[in-house]
Amino acid sequence: MTTTPARLTVLAGPTAVGKGTVSADVRARFPQVWLSVSATTRSPRPGEIDGVHYHFVGADEFDRMVAAGDLLEWAVVHGRNRYGTPRGPVEARLAAGEPALLEIDLQGARQVRESMPDARFVFLAPPSFAELERRLVGRGTEDAEERERRLATARVELAAESEFDHVVVNDDVHRATDELISIMGIASR
Ligand code: 5GP
Repeated sequence: MTTTPARLTVLAGPTAVGKGTVSADVRARFPQVWLSVSATTRSPRPGEIDGVHYHFVGADEFDRMVAAGDLLEWAVVHGRNRYGTPRGPVEARLAAGEPALLEIDLQGARQVRESMPDARFVFLAPPSFAELERRLVGRGTEDAEERERRLATARVELAAESEFDHVVVNDDVHRATDELISIMGIASR
C-alpha cells in the first residue's frame, strides 16, 4: 500500500487578494483541512476573535515566542506589526498525517521554504493590480495611509510570483478554492 505523507501547503499573496476569503472557503467546504492560527501583535479588528482569527499577543509575548523558538516563521508585515506561525500545532498536524494550510506573507513563505522545503508553495494572485486596489478600498478596513503602505508591499509581493510552485488567480473565490484543493490533492466529499 502506498500512502502520500501529509504535506504543508503555504498560501501567500498580496494584501486584499482574498487569502482570508479563500482559506475560509476551504475550511467551510473541506473541514479536513486544518488552517494554522497565527500570532500577531496587531490589534483585533471588529468581529475578530482571539484564538480563532489570530492569537492576539503583546510585543513582550511575541518576543518570548521568538526567543523560545516557538514560531516556525515570523515577519514584520507592512512595516508595522509582527505575525508568526506557532510551530507546535503545525508539526502535530503533519505528524498526525493531516493536511495543514498556512496563510502568510512572502517573507514568511521564504522562511518556510528554508526550513520545510517539501512544503507546497501556492501564490494567490489578483486578476490585475487595479482589481487589487479596488478590493482594498472596497473592504474599508484600512485608512488611506495604511492602504498605500499595503499597496507598496503588494508590488514587491507580486514580483515574487515566480518563486512559487503554483499560481492561482483569485478571479472567483469558489473557483480559486477548487484549484487550491486540487493542488493540495484533496478529494471532494
Ligand atoms: P491582516 O493584518 O490583514 O490580517 O494580515 C496582514 C498580512 O499578514 C497578510 O498578508 C497575511 O498573509 C500576513 N500574515 C498573517 N499571518 C501571518 C503569519 O503567521 N506569518 C506571516 N509571515 N505573515 C502572516
